[in-house]
Amino acid sequence: MHILVVGSGGREHALAWKIAQSPLLTRLVCAPGNPGMATLAETRPAAATDVAAQVALAQEIKADLVVIGPEAAVEAGLADALAKVGIPCFGPTAAAGRLESSKAFTKAFCERHAMPTAGYAVFEAAAEAKAGLDRFRAPFVIKADGLAAGKGVVIAKDRVEAEAAIDDMLDGRFGQAGARVVIEEFMAGEEASLFALSDGERYVLFGAAQDHKRAFDGDQGPNTGGMGTYSPAPILTPERQAAAERTLIAPALAGVAREGWPYRGVLYAGLMLTEEGPKLVEFNARFGDPECQVLMLRLDSDLVPLLHACATGRLGEVPEPVWRDESAVCVVMAADGYPDDPRKGTVISGAEQDFGPDVVVFHAGTARGEDGRVVAAGGRVLNVCARGPDLKTARDRAYAAIRKIDWPEGFFRTDIGWRALKGA
Ligand code: AMP
Repeated sequence: MHILVVGSGGREHALAWKIAQSPLLTRLVCAPGNPGMATLAETRPAAATDVAAQVALAQEIKADLVVIGPEAAVEAGLADALAKVGIPCFGPTAAAGRLESSKAFTKAFCERHAMPTAGYAVFEAAAEAKAGLDRFRAPFVIKADGLAAGKGVVIAKDRVEAEAAIDDMLDGRFGQAGARVVIEEFMAGEEASLFALSDGERYVLFGAAQDHKRAFDGDQGPNTGGMGTYSPAPILTPERQAAAERTLIAPALAGVAREGWPYRGVLYAGLMLTEEGPKLVEFNARFGDPECQVLMLRLDSDLVPLLHACATGRLGEVPEPVWRDESAVCVVMAADGYPDDPRKGTVISGAEQDFGPDVVVFHAGTARGEDGRVVAAGGRVLNVCARGPDLKTARDRAYAAIRKIDWPEGFFRTDIGWRALKGA
């Protein structure tokens, strides 16, 4: 099979790493890819959101399957364009992708299908939004409507902060994404992520994970795209998972099909585990980054038949995914200054050594310098991942690997997994 992986982050490196192990694979191309992906696939310069270039590349390499990594490519309509030329695509159409790309759309969708989530209101003007705060109690949850790379949410402790956030979001900082704000009821609880693969008609659950969004230890500092993750997530007990499947995953995938835009790809449900049961924080129309990394380390099955079955509406014909009875951890190494102003161009040594069979280092924001050395080229730069018989072992292995990487201008959290380990 010829496969094209679209994207250039740690998530896509992890997908490519797992796909590369498939006996079904004959050619793997990643676009644009990164230096890590270049060690196991061909890389081509097309941007993930350059739909015309990606389609042309898929045709040129006679792709049997295109795997979309990032949400921006979903929103750009890559799946729609590939459908027109008859190339199977793992990743939803732009219409189905609105479950991620518009928070206002998703809240209305949840209402139509009676799915548990926070109460909300949508506003286009600052004055109305501020008056609308009357309907909510502190802390106030203020969100930009569209894709804002994980930075479009403010949890404001009081009205002053809430009003400032509203002004901020509606002043054009987020472009189209900030043309509307959503105000939500605050949900208290612990968060977990649940994944499902869907072929448009059927779905199969695809693991769970927990992540760490704040930049620094002890869940301090600014929100980020994610500083680390682990799977499984013990907090998501079988009962809670079954409840989330019944009240969120199943109705969402049935709902999209009924509304005429069947979903082919991975649906990622961000859950708040409240006292009243799991409630939806958000849907994502792609794998989480770095959640994908730990799922790939734990997945025992061949990934390719699953992705291809989703893309071709044949999920009923492939075996259900089988997972290793192990835990996996991913620790993100970020460049100093991340998330606001990450320092670029610093040299990283030791990231490409052999760390043994249970450790994998995925590249996220790296580039190769002229002398061939790996340099930082983004905010989140490396994903140091490990698996082991239990979470603690996996985590110890990841941190042991990090100690072998020499990058003085990078930082990482030292407490990934603390929630799950506190009771262990
Ligand atoms: P989102 O981009 O919608 O996933 O929101 C980012 C983060 O903000 C989530 O992971 C939660 O930690 C937090 N959050 C979002 N919505 C709510 C809510 N209604 N109540 C409490 N926390 C929330």
